[in-house]
Amino acid sequence: MLVRSAPPEILETLFSRLSGTGKVYGPVRQGKAVRFLPLSSISDAELSYQRTVLPPKKFFLPPGETLLTFAGRGEWRVPDEEDERIVLFGLHPCDLHGIEILTVFMSDAVPDSPFLRRREKAFIVGLSCLPDDKCFCRSMGCQTSEKGFDIFITLLGDRVLLRAGSPEGYRLLRMLDGEAREPSREDRERLLNFHRLRNESFTLSLDITDLPEVLDLEEESQVWEELGNRCFTCGNCSIVCPTCSCFNVVDIPSFASGETKRVRTWDSCLFRSYALVAGGHNFREKRAQRVKNRYYHKQKGFVEGFGKPSCVGCGRCISSCPAGIDVVSVFKRLTEAYAK
Ligand code: SF4
Ligand code: SF4
Repeated sequence: MLVRSAPPEILETLFSRLSGTGKVYGPVRQGKAVRFLPLSSISDAELSYQRTVLPPKKFFLPPGETLLTFAGRGEWRVPDEEDERIVLFGLHPCDLHGIEILTVFMSDAVPDSPFLRRREKAFIVGLSCLPDDKCFCRSMGCQTSEKGFDIFITLLGDRVLLRAGSPEGYRLLRMLDGEAREPSREDRERLLNFHRLRNESFTLSLDITDLPEVLDLEEESQVWEELGNRCFTCGNCSIVCPTCSCFNVVDIPSFASGETKRVRTWDSCLFRSYALVAGGHNFREKRAQRVKNRYYHKQKGFVEGFGKPSCVGCGRCISSCPAGIDVVSVFKRLTEAYAK
């Protein structure tokens, strides 16, 4: 795999090449929040951000989209494909893992074609970061990423390392050869120092080694009732989560046009309506059951199905919970209860 070292000005050249291939989105600061928004120049991008409000899943699984339109008499049509290529610039390793987890979700016998089509059209540029007090990606093995990007950028002060992660990323890096060179010994030392600094900067951690077993034993724990009493079931934690992909599908008829649109929107297993079925029965009537369900899905169900948790340790659910519920503290409490 190709790695190149260059001065930070290379990012302007990279941006101008990328903007010739599609619309570029990247992290933009808006007050206290950072959001993935269209970039018109590299100077619009906030390169030292911690986390965006919404993860990049919004580009592949939009909050709302029309899947089909029924025109009557058995006729139906799918929306025209979006032709535009998108470039996602500045995704942190945890978000790269988040996209990979969603791809696993969509790659069974009946793949989700809108998701896959968008993913295939996206060029992804990863970006190095340092953790804050809500990041625990290292505990989830997501502080670095070996795939899911075309180019990965590591910021090393007055040098930048660019690493290709796909044939297209490789070709693009080759085009920058006039401005970039092979990493020197000094570049390698800087990279090692950066890794050391990043690893030493984590203040939050979670030992997930025996978590599925702990969860098996703590199904009746008082912790769930307590969380149910605190949780507003607002759904923030799942909406901002890079790996949560629950959605609802509704048919919306229009008497004016005679057509019916089948629309998919984000949903949350925290919502009361989520497990409500015809006849009025609710499989997760109580708030405690809904909170518990989300935690079990992340650290037990997904592990059983796919061999890893569906949490990348991004800290978004911690920073966005109005009730101050913190996923790491919850699992630590359960583990402590198990050890007693
Ligand atoms: S963000 Fe907090 S209060 Fe809202 S549903 Fe999630 S755990 Fe409950
Ligand atoms: S559960 Fe929380 S920390 Fe884990 S990936 Fe989702 S939002 Fe991030």
